[in-house]
Amino acid sequence: MARHDPIIPGKTIGILGGGQLGRMFAIAARRMGYRVHALDPSPDCPTGQVADVEWNARYDDVETALKFARAVDVVTFEFENIPYETLQRVAEVVPVHPAPLVLDTTRHRLREKTFLQTHGFPVAPFRAVQSVDDLGAALAQLGTPSILKTATFGYDGKGQTRLDDAAQCDAAWRSLGQPMGVLEGFVRFSCELSVIVARARTGEVVTFPVAENAHTRHILDVTVVPARVPAATATAAVELAVAVAKALDLVGVLAVELFWSDDGSATGKLLVNELAPRPHNSGHFSIDACITSQFEQQLRAVCGLPLGDVELVRPVAMANLLGDEWAAGEPRWERALAIPDVKLHLYGKTEARPGRKMGHLTAMGATVDEAERKVRAARAALTASDARMDAAPKGGVT
Ligand code: AMP
Repeated sequence: MARHDPIIPGKTIGILGGGQLGRMFAIAARRMGYRVHALDPSPDCPTGQVADVEWNARYDDVETALKFARAVDVVTFEFENIPYETLQRVAEVVPVHPAPLVLDTTRHRLREKTFLQTHGFPVAPFRAVQSVDDLGAALAQLGTPSILKTATFGYDGKGQTRLDDAAQCDAAWRSLGQPMGVLEGFVRFSCELSVIVARARTGEVVTFPVAENAHTRHILDVTVVPARVPAATATAAVELAVAVAKALDLVGVLAVELFWSDDGSATGKLLVNELAPRPHNSGHFSIDACITSQFEQQLRAVCGLPLGDVELVRPVAMANLLGDEWAAGEPRWERALAIPDVKLHLYGKTEARPGRKMGHLTAMGATVDEAERKVRAARAALTASDARMDAAPKGGVT
């Protein structure tokens, strides 16, 4: 088979990484008649539970990765910390989308920011730091507050320290635990946005409606779509995301996280915070609210098929379910599901640790505000006491 032939239903897709993003991808792929192999170090991983075949090996076990590659027709990934060496060796055997180089750029904060800056995309001011002296000098330049972030393995705010005073440099540098970090100027944003863009092998690009994201403790909490920003801002955000996808020569799905500051201008000020060359938590709304989900779009892109329509059927809100929801026992699912258009997604994780993403809820509404109220009420009902539920007006606790 020529490398540019489409990979049609019935063929086998390999996915590196076995978390919830792979699981939702595998569900989309199996629904369309593909077979799915998943590789992850942990047995019974969320993707493995719904894949045809689960491979368990460390990501640096190149021999096993090569055997896995020989068993599939195309490989994609759902996890950013796959070693470049593994991905490159796999790409010698079978097509890998997005290309290994895309992952290598985006999984390393400094390389990512440098790439963005070099291509003229707006980012918060930043400095590379390799010692406590570097940190002190960088802080003097960027001012306080600033945020020190690890160059690698940072997600959901892990490996981040806010510096409000130069006296905190020593402790912040010690807590970094890595030889390299990035100091970033603090951005006083009005809200956080994200754009999920899919790009096909032909260069065809489709963007999902702009999402507005609220974080709690640095972890995504609630997404509402369409974002409550001026139309000119949404257009500028989409144009930015498309330009980044093109600059990366992406084939697949890319999430572009943005900070938006309403500075009184027509579009306001947009800065790119982070890139993820895969479906993203803030795109989960698309499963229930768009004609084509971000996962089906990933499938279509990596298989060389035409991209799908991503029209938003109704305004939507998504609320994450973290392990904290299990603190007092199993959440009361029947209460959320009593709201007819609330949808429950659980990822098959058995251990509910605080901060761990266990699932999410989506709700649709006539407006985003209504959808948001509904999804927050549905989530609150999962853990409310019986007395609070009895006292709540119809429509649930908030
Ligand atoms: P990150 O892992 O870099 O996406 O950061 C997680 C969250 O921390 C972001 O979504 C923001 O809410 C917050 N954050 C990160 N960087 C900055 C910054 N430079 N200024 C203000 N808030 C930030």
